[in-house]
Amino acid sequence: MSFLDDIINTTKSAAATAGKKTDEAVKFTKLKIKESQTTGDIKSHFEKLGEMAYEMKKNENPDAAAFDAEVEEIDKLYARLAEINHALDDLRQEVTCPVCGAKTKSENAFCPKCGAKLPEKPAPEAAEQPAEVLDEKKDDENK
Ligand SMILES: [Zn+2]
Repeated sequence: MSFLDDIINTTKSAAATAGKKTDEAVKFTKLKIKESQTTGDIKSHFEKLGEMAYEMKKNENPDAAAFDAEVEEIDKLYARLAEINHALDDLRQEVTCPVCGAKTKSENAFCPKCGAKLPEKPAPEAAEQPAEVLDEKKDDENK
C-alpha cells in the first residue's frame, strides 16, 4: 500500500466515524424529543383522568367507559415510553437492570448495583456496521 493510499484510507475511516457519530447524535436528539413529548402526553392524560375522577364523584351517572379509555391510553403511552427508553439505552450502549432499574454498560453481565443478571445483548459490531460503508469500499475496488 502506497503512502497516499494510506492517507486516503485514514481520512475515509475518520469521516465515516464522524458521520456515524453525527447520525447517532441526531437519533439521540430525536429520541429525547419523543421521550419528553410522551412524558408530556402522559401528564396531560393524568390531568384529564383527575378531572374525570372528580366528575365521577360528583355525577350520579359517571362515564366509566371514557374513564377506562383514558387509563388504556396512559398504558399505551407508558409502553411507548419504555420503547423509547430502550432505544436510548441501545444508543448509549447501556442496559436498564430489570430488577432495580439502574442503568449500566451493556457489556456487564450483572448489575453493579444489585447483582441481578442482566439481559444479553447482541454483539454491537454486527448491528453498528452501516451498509453504506461496505458499499463505498466495493466502489473503490472497481476504480
Ligand atoms: Zn440492579
